[in-house]
Amino acid sequence: MKVLMIDDSPDALAVAKARLSKEYLDIVCAGGGVSGLEAARREKPDIILLDVDMPDMSGFEVCRALKNDVELCMIPVLFLSGVTTPEDKVHGLDLGAVDYVAKPFDAFELRARVRAALRTKHLQDLLIEHAHIDPLTGLSNRRALMERLQCEWARIERHGGQMAFIMADLDHFKNVNDLYGHHVGDKLLQETARAIADQCRDNDLPARYGGEEFSIVVPDETAVSAVHLAERCRQKISECCIVVRNETVKVTASFGVADSRGATSLEDLMRLADEALYWSKQAGRNRVQSNAAPTPPVAAPTNPDAMPLSDHHPVNE
Ligand code: GH3
Ligand code: MG
Ligand code: MG
Repeated sequence: MKVLMIDDSPDALAVAKARLSKEYLDIVCAGGGVSGLEAARREKPDIILLDVDMPDMSGFEVCRALKNDVELCMIPVLFLSGVTTPEDKVHGLDLGAVDYVAKPFDAFELRARVRAALRTKHLQDLLIEHAHIDPLTGLSNRRALMERLQCEWARIERHGGQMAFIMADLDHFKNVNDLYGHHVGDKLLQETARAIADQCRDNDLPARYGGEEFSIVVPDETAVSAVHLAERCRQKISECCIVVRNETVKVTASFGVADSRGATSLEDLMRLADEALYWSKQAGRNRVQSNAAPTPPVAAPTNPDAMPLSDHHPVNE
């Protein structure tokens, strides 16, 4: 695990580094508050050992800045300071630090306190990971999806640009459960998740939206290129199969695609993708429908075959 030590005294840094060397930690040092904050952003350490009395920025100010930064606020801060009145300790802990060790410190005690803080950090990381992953498929869950969507939407509002959003829903999936049992249904959900994840780039976020519904956040893209991604996923899902008692069980999925350029809010973007998915279902399923279509359908069809989208190649841009 990685430790960031922030202290303006090179001697203090050298001593702490030597005392921690037995812990097999990756140790990074910064000689002041400002450079310490930069190092925290760059290195994403697992723990920060923070001096209080520094010329450019006090350790208390650094701690406050860390706790106010969504990207950094979960990193445990351990004050390591010669400033040791009870008021200072209370102040440091109330700012969100996990511990406050007085200088000069006992090497064994410092190591034990760092180990304790790292154990808690490890458990915290596991909890965060579990809270964001769907246990059946291993994909991101709805919570992770919403966090990413909000993050991408905020980025677009601040800096401009665009994003696309894909919704997918397995076709007649209830039949699979009814005919072959939930166990087979679950396996197909796992195969589907793998097929979708395999088509995504590192920057995309494939997720299980819930039940037999999946979605993909596609940053920086328009609906036109997201339609191609959705079409690749649709194709791969249709190739998935599970063999049950010599019988091959297959599944297909319908897709709806929308992009941020036509949306007034994040909720609107999701509604547009859901609407496109609805039209995919109406048009006969196992197809991709984009809400960026120049002439979106205007009336609910009474007969799916009558839909103009039901040609053999299901991409409709
Ligand atoms: P449509 O093409 O209209 O989407 O039909 P559908 O049968 O897929 O839709 P419906 O909403 O009627 O049924 C969804 C099914 O998905 C029913 C539910 O049991 C199944 N399902 C949802 N979550 C899971 C799961 O975790 N495991 C399994 N095996 N089935 C699930
Ligand atoms: Mg559904
Ligand atoms: Mg379905």
